[in-house]
Amino acid sequence: MKVFNFNAGPAMLPAEVMEHAQREFCDYHKSGCGIMELSHRGGEFTEVIEAAEKNIRELMDISDDYAVLFIQGGASLQFAMIPMNLHVPGTSMDYADTGHWASAAMKEAKLFGDVKSACSSKDTNYNKIPDLRHWKMDPRASYLHITTNNTIFGTQYHTLPEPKVPMIADMSSDFMSRVLDVNNFGLIYAGAQKNIGPSGVAVVIMRKDLVKRTPANTPTMLKYGTYIDGKSMYNTPPTFGIYMIRLVTDWMKKIGGLGAVETINDAKSEAIYETIEASNFYNNPVDPESRSKMNVVFRLPSEALEEKFVKEAKAKGFVGLKGHRSVGGIRASIYNAMPLEGVEKLIDFMNAFEKANS
Ligand SMILES: *Cc1c(COP(=O)(O)O)cnc(C)c1O
Repeated sequence: MKVFNFNAGPAMLPAEVMEHAQREFCDYHKSGCGIMELSHRGGEFTEVIEAAEKNIRELMDISDDYAVLFIQGGASLQFAMIPMNLHVPGTSMDYADTGHWASAAMKEAKLFGDVKSACSSKDTNYNKIPDLRHWKMDPRASYLHITTNNTIFGTQYHTLPEPKVPMIADMSSDFMSRVLDVNNFGLIYAGAQKNIGPSGVAVVIMRKDLVKRTPANTPTMLKYGTYIDGKSMYNTPPTFGIYMIRLVTDWMKKIGGLGAVETINDAKSEAIYETIEASNFYNNPVDPESRSKMNVVFRLPSEALEEKFVKEAKAKGFVGLKGHRSVGGIRASIYNAMPLEGVEKLIDFMNAFEKANS
């Protein structure tokens, strides 16, 4: 049976990329070895990591003022590395509190200094990105940290703040899903496993001058400078993840770059939101201005119906639709690799389910 995978992360990868990797798995470019069996210092892997970086630079139009790094430990290690490297003594750190992952980032920052909440949507159960006009940003803060897409609550920034201090963004769940100006950021980071690869590697895009902030007593493996100086190869990097990122970004270039990817993502999310809007059965709890194009969350009239929906959807080949355990409901994660066809088929299922159960 053909399955459409709506998992939130690790998430689906383009079928042609997986098939490509499968073909090369045991014998990479006639070397007689799989890519995971080859030295990271050898010619084959050097070409792979350089191509992965070059693809990301091209697709996102990244200038030489920025380093592109591959680091293990996922987005969650970045929650700690950021304050560890970028907190300026005597200043506080601003965080936008927009949900679970933003709170997890704040928790780590508190280990290194004063954390201030620039805004919070906690009192409305994180159903929106707080109105930028009401944020309290400290012009002397070390930096401002935002979470551009809130994977669990289904919210996303459609307008970005313009702080006077470096802006740091957790883009784990909308990385490379739309066109943005990297020059507006001090640092961007993302675990690969939602939009551009498997788990085990995070991509960090960092304005190089910020590296001067790192305190001297920071452990080697937790210093951004180590990854910049060593071209992400101070020690053995996560070779398979980087190889997959290379293939996914090759695919993104082939289908027309970030502009084309964004157009498809817009069409997919609009189609589902229109279906929800047109229905008295499905309900989206998110403020319309803040709706995520990556994670579409919705509720049914009862938890019993939600359970039935997930079960019947699964039997029909739509997997991964159960909402995060902390919020319940339904979540359709429609990252870059999800084709429009998958969303159209899901909408057909939603309409049929509504008819049969309302
Ligand atoms: C998934 C996710 C994370 C956690 O990523 P790990 O790589 O598992 O550490 C952090 N932030 C956001 C926004 C996420 O969606």
